[in-house]
Amino acid sequence: MADIRKVAVVGAGTMGNGIVHVFAQSGYDVTMIDVRAEALDAARKTIAGNMDRQIRKGALSEADRDAALGRIAAASDLSAVADADLVIEAATENTELKFRIFEQMDAAAPAHAILATNTSSISITEIAARTRRPEKVIGMHFMNPVPVMKLVEIIRGLATSDETTRLVVEMSEKLGKTVAEAQDYPGFVSNRILMPMINEAVFCLMEGVATKEAIDTVMKLGMNHPMGPLALADLIGLDTCLAIMEVLHRGLGDDKYRPCPLLRKYVASGKLGRKTGEGFYSYAP
Ligand code: NAD
Repeated sequence: MADIRKVAVVGAGTMGNGIVHVFAQSGYDVTMIDVRAEALDAARKTIAGNMDRQIRKGALSEADRDAALGRIAAASDLSAVADADLVIEAATENTELKFRIFEQMDAAAPAHAILATNTSSISITEIAARTRRPEKVIGMHFMNPVPVMKLVEIIRGLATSDETTRLVVEMSEKLGKTVAEAQDYPGFVSNRILMPMINEAVFCLMEGVATKEAIDTVMKLGMNHPMGPLALADLIGLDTCLAIMEVLHRGLGDDKYRPCPLLRKYVASGKLGRKTGEGFYSYAP
């Protein structure tokens, strides 16, 4: 394939709307697809609000905002990937769901299209095996919040071709991102290291080692982290954190990755972090 011009993003939640934002701002036509109409509405509002913040900071002009918003189309059905050169899946972190989405994307996308996943932890090789084009399947792991964070972790599945990798690396650099390549093992690099730290912070809270504020203060002021691990878990989404710990636990087969029972309890109660207004902390609407 010569070049990537049209992009589709599947899932318009926390990550999907950020990915749509950076592609539209970089001049690409982008279709965002979500099964929930309210997610599409919320994504459009979030993107416009975040672009307004960039205008206030002098990082974007009003004309460029309007042009970028004009490049975003919305759809509720996966058939909208039919004219995409690159599809990035950023739906809920659930293995069976992603397998199903990739089977459908493979059927609906043009033969030349690259199918990327923003998964935090699920095997790229297993996802690719659900398609008839495993050489064109790759992990494109953006960080949250996508418009701000520089890193894209690129993960090659067993069958991912050099050509696919080259195109996706070049594309990420055109978005102003810096790439780090990883091999396909559970959690790759980022979540193999980050999630056990967050999980351990939740164990500290559960065992009464310290208050949530004290735990976050130790890591912020003592380790120079920009956010404490519990505040970061709220930003990521506690359901996503739990799903990643389960993948690490299962995939690496070591009990050091067992999810903290308190994390399970929060997820069971529907307190998922910022996206539901409450997690370890409360967030005003
Ligand atoms: P989210 O819950 O905010 O959004 C997921 C969206 O996917 C929802 O809007 C949901 O309606 C939609 N969806 C579910 N099934 C769908 C389907 N069949 N077709 C289309 N849309 C569907 O989740 P998120 O935090 O944005 O995470 C998305 C992906 O990004 C996950 O794989 C996650 O592991 C990964 N990720 C998350 C973070 C983070 O900090 N949240 C960081 C890096 C990667």
